[in-house]
Parts: sequence; C-alpha cells; structure tokens
Amino acid sequence: MNTLYLRFLEEMQSKGSLKYYRKYPLSMVTTMGTGGRAEFYVTPYDIQTLVMTVREAGKYGRYKVIGNASNLIFDDRGFCGTVISTVKIRASGVLRQPRNAEESRIFAKTGARVLMYATCGTWLPSLSLAAKNLGYTGFEGLCSIPATVGGALYTNAGAFGCEISDNLAALSIYLPEIEKTGLIFRDEMTFSYRKSSVGKSGEIVLCAYFFVRDGNRSKILEKTEESKKKRAATQPIGVRSAGSYFKRPDPGEGKAAYRGKSAGELIELCGLKGCAVRGAQVSEKHGNFIINASGKSRSSDIITLARKVKKKVYEKCGVRLVEEVEYVPYGGAGKGNRKAKE
Ligand SMILES: Cc1cc2nc3c(=O)[nH]c(=O)nc-3n(C[C@H](O)[C@H](O)[C@H](O)COP(=O)(O)OP(=O)(O)OC[C@H]3O[C@@H](n4cnc5c(N)ncnc54)[C@H](O)[C@@H]3O)c2cc1C
Repeated sequence: MNTLYLRFLEEMQSKGSLKYYRKYPLSMVTTMGTGGRAEFYVTPYDIQTLVMTVREAGKYGRYKVIGNASNLIFDDRGFCGTVISTVKIRASGVLRQPRNAEESRIFAKTGARVLMYATCGTWLPSLSLAAKNLGYTGFEGLCSIPATVGGALYTNAGAFGCEISDNLAALSIYLPEIEKTGLIFRDEMTFSYRKSSVGKSGEIVLCAYFFVRDGNRSKILEKTEESKKKRAATQPIGVRSAGSYFKRPDPGEGKAAYRGKSAGELIELCGLKGCAVRGAQVSEKHGNFIINASGKSRSSDIITLARKVKKKVYEKCGVRLVEEVEYVPYGGAGKGNRKAKE
C-alpha cells in the first residue's frame, strides 16, 4: 500500500476537496449496473483537485477518469487502481468576457463575442436545458443523453442530428504525461460519427467552450420535445443499459440484402430480440440495446450475450458488429486514461 497516496487522499478529503472510497462497487455507478469493485473510487469536487488526483493516482498505479459511466462495462473483478469520477464537477454558464488568461486566448483566437462553458462533469441534459433557456440552438438533441460533457466529448455523443462537437470552440485539458494544463482548439481535433480524437492520448478534459447561435425559442422547444418523444417511443427507458451497444455498421458491409441496415435492424432480423444470457437480455423494444433486465447481471453475462449477437449477425448478414460501449479491464499494462486495446 502506498502510504503517500493514502495520505494525499485523506488530506484532500479532510479539506473537503474530494471524497474517496476503497473497494467501491462499480455496479453502483455504471448505468449498466455491473462491474466489480474499484480499489479506489474518488470524486473530486473541483478542477484543480481533479488534476491533483490524476497526478497522484498516476504515481500510485493505474487510473481511469470517468463521467457518468454510461458507456462503460467494467470487469466483474473490478478495477485494479483508481477510478476518478468527474460527476461532482458541474458548472456551466455564458461568458461575455474572459475570466482568466486562458479564456482570453479563446476569445482572441476564435473571435467569439459570447461563449458557453461547461466543466467536464456537467450533465449533458443540463447543458441542453441551459442553452434552451438562453435561446441558443444546436444543443437540442443532447437533452436526454445520460452523459457528462467530458465523456460525451470522448465519444462524440449525439442524437437526432446533433453532436456535442457541433458547436465546440475549445477545450481546457490536462496532459498527465507532462503534468501540464493547456488549451486545444476545434481545428486541432477530429470528430466523426461516435468518434473523437479527444482523450485518446490520455489527456483529461477539464472544461469545454462552445460557440452559441441564437435560435427561435419555440422551434428550440419543439425540437427538444421531439427528440425526447422519439427516444421514449423507440428505446427502453427505466432499465439498466449502456445505450446503443454496437456502432452503426458501414453501409457497404455485409450480404446484399442486409447492407445499409442499422445494428438494431440486423439484430431484429436475426430474431435476437429478447434473447438472454442469465439476467442480460437483448431489449424487446430496441435490438441494439443490451439490458441488465434482472438488475443482477454481471458484466460477463452482458459480454457473453454480445458475443452471441455478433456471431449470429455475422453468420446471417455478413456484418461484423463493433462495440460502441467500452470494456474496461481489471488490470493490465494500460497507462493513464488511454482506452484498453481491443
Ligand atoms: C440510456 C442511454 C442512452 C444513451 N443514448 C445515447 C445517445 O443518444 N447518443 C450517444 O452518443 N450516446 C448515448 N449513450 C451512451 C453514452 O451516454 C455516451 O457514450 C456518453 O458519451 C458517455 O458519457 P459518460 O459521461 O457516461 O462517459 P463514461 O461512460 O464515464 O466514459 C466514456 C469514456 O470517456 C472517458 N472520459 C470521461 N470523462 C473524461 C474526461 N473528463 N476527460 C477525458 N476522458 C474522459 C472515459 O475514460 C471513457 O473512456 C446512451 C447511454 C445510455 C445508458
């Protein structure tokens, strides 16, 4: 046991800067409701403490920075190292002028007169709501994605024609390898469908800055309500899942009759809706949702079911489904916040 690391956590906790737990059940924090225990689970309350925690956790061993854990399947053995959650670092608002030198650079480089900012743990529906209340358009589709801003930027989350990267101006980040904070601008990042360069070199998103566009308030409200209704009509609500399990397949892939179909359609055509492995089940409502139907499934049940689905879809349709969810291994050589090799 590294006593220096424990002392750091104790001191920061007694100052009220974070809360930490040992042997914390990750099933309590993942939206799938699975995963074993994290050796350490830490929730910093502010950006500075997040940076310090990442630095200290990195000296001690492995760490994984998470948001709402809505895209993660942790190993049933848990996580050997520290899981650092950003969910308590929530703040957003409008900036008409910079508050510090970093923000001055953003205003100067982008030429923006108004920006919205959101710290990494900001809840996406709150960001969408704030934009709606201010009459800014472009955030409507984010209104019911159960994610944090940091996690959403990592996956380029989006729905109903809207992606988190659409209005992005710049990010404030921490680079653990050189122990420095800095800025990256939109033209230094790449985004495509559920793909993003953000975080892939181990950098941690601290705060995001967005351009704003005035919109018609009633149209913003209409679009927001429409995306909520579409979701409720097509996706399982109130059950444990990690959202869409597989990515949208390449439209040119597979046997002719199955090309251009979504993962959910292919799974349905294979008769897999309702298919189960112990308490894990392919949703009856949407084929691309694997749910923890019993609430007692293990990650291994979910993964076994996903493998079964992939095999059947490949055999029948010739399409190799690729996971949108991320598997997080118990241990291994992974360094910093980089994703484990698939
Ligand atoms: C019911 C449901 C519906 C969903 N619907 C959608 C949808 O419509 N569209 C969509 O795109 N997704 C959807 N998802 C999936 C999920 O919400 C997204 O993938 C989301 O972007 C994950 O955000 P998170 O905060 O939960 O991140 P997490 O799952 O906690 O983490 C995801 C990745 O981001 C990294 N990360 C997190 N925070 C940071 C940070 N501050 N800096 C660097 N890296 C970080 C983590 O290390 C991890 O690799 C849905 C999920 C559920 C459960």
